Amino acid sequence: MLALGIDIGSTATKVVLINERKEIIDRVGFSLGAGTSGADRALAEAFERNDIDWSSIDHCVVTGYGRQRFQKANKEISEISCHAKCMSYLLPGTRTIIDIGGQDAKALKLRPDGTLDNFIMNEKCAAGTGRFLDVMARVLDTDISKLGDLDKQSNCVVEISSTCTVFAESEVISHLSNGEPIPDIVAGIHCSVARRVSGLVKRLGSIDEPVAMSGGVALNNGVVRALEKELGIMINVSEDCQFCGALGAALYAMEKIS
Ligand code: ADP
Repeated sequence: MLALGIDIGSTATKVVLINERKEIIDRVGFSLGAGTSGADRALAEAFERNDIDWSSIDHCVVTGYGRQRFQKANKEISEISCHAKCMSYLLPGTRTIIDIGGQDAKALKLRPDGTLDNFIMNEKCAAGTGRFLDVMARVLDTDISKLGDLDKQSNCVVEISSTCTVFAESEVISHLSNGEPIPDIVAGIHCSVARRVSGLVKRLGSIDEPVAMSGGVALNNGVVRALEKELGIMINVSEDCQFCGALGAALYAMEKIS
């Protein structure tokens, strides 16, 4: 049996295929999100790589920001539920999830049995999201995947005080023209994201541990370290963090057929 989970995010589409033993058969990420051809292209790649087509899929669940416009799935489920479902499979026992995606950040509180208790979301502002980091990486003329390693080379964190992405971008440009080392600017950017996201997480009331991070920004270990410092806790990250929504959707799909 084959279950398909699709997460059509704001910036990227993720596809996960699992079998009846809940083993991941394949995962495909495509850096195009809602309102684009991202879903079709990610699916075409997954189908081609595994020599399958729609008729091979027993059930499909779609999630993410762009889920409502995708017509080919059997069901759509919110990304909040999918991240909770995924985390209780990937990192069982997790009580708090911090999910930072391309356009929003969310904090989820889970019950001891892994079900969703409560969540808080920031979707009104790019600060504290992947978009903020994408903008800064562009200004620094570096790839988003290099920010974590640059942060590790920092000796002194440069202060980025503006919470607004546009003003923070001007601050970064001014630090660059003052000759501040790039790793120190990157560390400052990560601290700014951590301050913003920790404010969101604290609104959950208590922060129950273990805490795990999901979403593409969890691939940036500089942000993870800065958040650990800001919150004074340890954060677990699975290598499948960016596929969490899609894997959760695939797990829901498999529940329907097994
Ligand atoms: P969405 O579901 O909203 O599209 P994702 O959870 O896929 O968002 O996360 C997208 C964000 O993850 C990007 O905006 C980017 O900042 C970050 N990201 C993606 N790939 C990497 C990477 N290799 N290293 C660090 N950050 C990454």
